[in-house]
Amino acid sequence: MKFPKVMRTYCPKCNKHTVHEVEMVKKKSRRTMAQGQRRFNRKLKGYGSFPRPQPDYEKSTKKIDLRYKCTVCGKKHMRGQGWRAKKFEFVKK
Ligand SMILES: [Zn+2]
Repeated sequence: MKFPKVMRTYCPKCNKHTVHEVEMVKKKSRRTMAQGQRRFNRKLKGYGSFPRPQPDYEKSTKKIDLRYKCTVCGKKHMRGQGWRAKKFEFVKK
């Protein structure tokens, strides 16, 4: 889908609608050898209880994670929940 790079929306800090810059959050790399991550991977393999083994296919759509930066106060915030899309691009208005 196409999404505007600059848009007017509500800023919780200014408590009114202001112009916001939209940016997509990049996926951060994991510390694969950290103790907590190793323990979690073991769970995903099926050892222990609750987190069930994960299916080995990938979903064809990914959730889009956006941040909205208020140009008045400079505060970044989220807006609602992410949604799924196959393609995502910013358009200039
Ligand atoms: Zn603001």
